Amino acid sequence: MTVKVRFAPSPTGKLHVGNVRTALANWLYARAHNGRFVLRIDDTDLERSTAEYEGGIQTDLTWLGMSWDEKGNQSARFPIYQEAVERLKAQGRLYPAYETGEELERRRRLALAQHKPPIYDRAALRLSNAERKALEADGRRPHWRFKLDGKRVHWNDLVRGRSEVDTASMSDPVLIREDGAFLYTLPSVADDVDMAITHVIRGEDHVTNTGAQIEVFEALGAKPPQFAHMPLLVGADGEALSKRLGSLSIEQLREAGFEPMAVLSHLGKIGTSDALEIASDLDALAVTFDFGKMGRAPARYDSADLERLNAAALHAMPYAVAQPRLAERGADLGEAFWLAIRANLTLFDGVATWVRVISGPVDVIREDPDFLLEAARHLPEPLDASSWSAWTNAIKATTGRKGKALFLPLRQALTGLDHGPEMGPLLPLIGREAALARLEGRAG
Ligand code: GLU
Repeated sequence: MTVKVRFAPSPTGKLHVGNVRTALANWLYARAHNGRFVLRIDDTDLERSTAEYEGGIQTDLTWLGMSWDEKGNQSARFPIYQEAVERLKAQGRLYPAYETGEELERRRRLALAQHKPPIYDRAALRLSNAERKALEADGRRPHWRFKLDGKRVHWNDLVRGRSEVDTASMSDPVLIREDGAFLYTLPSVADDVDMAITHVIRGEDHVTNTGAQIEVFEALGAKPPQFAHMPLLVGADGEALSKRLGSLSIEQLREAGFEPMAVLSHLGKIGTSDALEIASDLDALAVTFDFGKMGRAPARYDSADLERLNAAALHAMPYAVAQPRLAERGADLGEAFWLAIRANLTLFDGVATWVRVISGPVDVIREDPDFLLEAARHLPEPLDASSWSAWTNAIKATTGRKGKALFLPLRQALTGLDHGPEMGPLLPLIGREAALARLEGRAG
């Protein structure tokens, strides 16, 4: 059996970290099993779906390096759903119902008041042909409901283990609205059958759907795929992320300057027993990917962790990888520069600070000019990687200063900053002329 999975976003908004976590689990599972990854655009809602959002989804996945083997739009597959509709109708599993939203709401409240489960009472199934005709003559158009078996549906979930949904406790799901539009439930199953999807990997908010959808698979004469329902994301505070997801779009993370591998490493590891660390590439994540490592507890998305992983990605980035990006910013000061500063970056854009430190002019901090003038007298010539320790030893010998009292004023005078990369490699990059100027209080 060839593994085939699908990521099925609705193009009604931007991809956020929650969607991408699902996409990534699908992608990694396919990669780890030599399988295929389908991008299925769930655009049955023609009013809310836009080509712009669809384009954004593809841009985001491409930026993250998640390519797809196949792409399909539900809006182009209506004949497949129509065929499924006919099959369900022929079996008496799809029936017309005429209640308005208000009627349904009234009945729901009544059921709750009587301490009954607020599920649809199937009144439509008891309508006679004549009653149906009368309603239609009255201008009512039916929506169509799937008649559930009302049984316990079982499956072996790759994350949750043995799982069960009692479809007797659910309303018969509406598959087709009164305007003829397909709702999510049926097209998803019809596509999973038609595309021969072997594993449906999605968030645990779909567990109840799965109960109904397994019944739809069976009604269509298909073997249900395997399911994996992943726990939802929560923020660092443990609160559900759902309301904040709008501000956690992939586009925003990209524009903020995060590295794709940092985003992927975070989303690929949270909620698993693996340590949160930066992966070198998607293949490295695929090798360790295993639903068995995924717990039942919510996965914690923490932007502080993302920043830490981003810094780690930059610390390990070879010059050859950084070079084109440095050049693009006019910040390519050579390999020695990159190696000297990369450990101080959280975001790539931070290079600008260090370019300024090297190229000047620097707003130096000169709290003790006499000390700096003394230091300037000992500056070695020429400067190389070993100059810093020779220089500071010489200053120590003549001034008696050591530790912070020795190093901090030098760092402040040379860089204008209290913290930064090791001074050893930085000093020759700053160069003797600029160093002297800064120590002596001239522009440099
Ligand atoms: N379009 C659905 C969603 O975004 C797909 C769910 C599924 O994977 O079946 O929730």
